[in-house]
Amino acid sequence: MSAESMSAEEAEEFRARCRAFLDEHATGIHLGGDPDPRGEKRLLAGKLFQQALADAGLAGLTYPKEYGGQGLTKEHERIWREEYGKYPNMTFELVISHGMCLPMLNQFGTHEQKAKYLADNIAARTVWCQMFSEPGAGSDVASLQTKAVRDGDTWVLNGQKVWTTLAHVSDYGVVIARTDPNVAKHAGISMFVVPMDSPGIEIRPIHQIDGGMHFNEVFFTDVSIPLDNLLGDLNNGWNMATAMLMYERVAIGSGSTGGIQHERADQLIEEATRRGKISDPVIRQKLMRLYALETAQSLVSMRTRAALQAGKAPGPGGSIGKLSGTLIMNFARDVSMEIVGADSVAWDHDSGSIWSRSALTGLQGGIAGGTNEIQKNIIGDRVLGLPRDISVDKGVPFKDLKVGTQLG
Ligand SMILES: Cc1cc2nc3c(=O)[nH]c(=O)nc-3n(C[C@H](O)[C@H](O)[C@H](O)COP(=O)(O)OP(=O)(O)OC[C@H]3O[C@@H](n4cnc5c(N)ncnc54)[C@H](O)[C@@H]3O)c2cc1C
Repeated sequence: MSAESMSAEEAEEFRARCRAFLDEHATGIHLGGDPDPRGEKRLLAGKLFQQALADAGLAGLTYPKEYGGQGLTKEHERIWREEYGKYPNMTFELVISHGMCLPMLNQFGTHEQKAKYLADNIAARTVWCQMFSEPGAGSDVASLQTKAVRDGDTWVLNGQKVWTTLAHVSDYGVVIARTDPNVAKHAGISMFVVPMDSPGIEIRPIHQIDGGMHFNEVFFTDVSIPLDNLLGDLNNGWNMATAMLMYERVAIGSGSTGGIQHERADQLIEEATRRGKISDPVIRQKLMRLYALETAQSLVSMRTRAALQAGKAPGPGGSIGKLSGTLIMNFARDVSMEIVGADSVAWDHDSGSIWSRSALTGLQGGIAGGTNEIQKNIIGDRVLGLPRDISVDKGVPFKDLKVGTQLG
């Protein structure tokens, strides 16, 4: 069925089906005051929601039926997002699994890989993480040192990843590793699917300032994975990593839902009203600015999503949504601190308040998924066509570069 062939009645019927499901299942994630430091309860709530979605025939709308999707049109997806945007987000802990790993598996996986992994991923029977960053390779991820060496029928992985969100609760990870150190750094990288329970993987939580333990260090010591866990072509990992980062920026910057949203402004208007500050002209002006920024951000996201729905792979323009989303998050954080005052810094160790938490974690958006400076470089180079940064290591074999532990 094409978007054109979907009649107004069919669209309305589908919308009503989405709404009925959401009325019943998108009731918010209630932790009863539990801080849930490792995100496990929120993830479980998301998994249950997603599994119910799959049972209702509404999960993975545009993915092929043979791989556990619904084989429906982009128009169905648009309607779903529009409706989901009006309800509490139940699936934010699945953003890496669904927003990044799933489209990569679908775009680059072989038929066998899709048959093996897609249906379980779509229904959240499995959860996936992304293992790119390393201690010496974040913004410059092409300098990564984790290596994969072929040994008979297996690839053997050695090295370390860091900041791996939800590695501790993931079933699989998409990892990039060096497969040829004798060529330039971007040329000798490959992408693999790694079961997170493989012998030789050690996952250590990173303790965050807000008491959370959402991300991890992941160590690989002689981790053996089958040859056919290579995703895409050998040594094409850089192009694939770039594709995955584009999906990531769209997933982070454009959200998983649709329509015009001003969630932060709404929340702060409520808080300012509750605290008797809503008549303060300076606060009002800031809240209005936040409302307008969020509205503009929603429109940018809708444009990005429309391009995706038209079949375009996400391009560097996704960086605009990611950057503006981060700047709005930072502004909202400042406004919230002004409204709630000492409540944003007074810290109760057991629970904290949502405001002190947001004051502590509100700046992470400018780092996760590529820093603000990196988004600005991408927008400058690839959207505006400005001259590129000077590259001092172009064409130099990776093994001769002074990066990471090769610095000495
Ligand atoms: C909440 C959160 C979740 C994350 N989850 C994951 C995950 O699941 N998987 C994963 O692989 N990674 C994850 N990361 C890691 C993230 O991708 C990196 O932290 C990020 O890419 C920056 O790398 P870095 O920390 O090494 O900083 P660096 O690259 O060392 O940057 C340090 C500073 O230098 C600036 N800088 C660096 N290069 C340039 C340049 N060329 N031009 C201008 N300025 C520059 C940066 O903007 C930054 O201010 C996560 C990070 C956060 C905060």
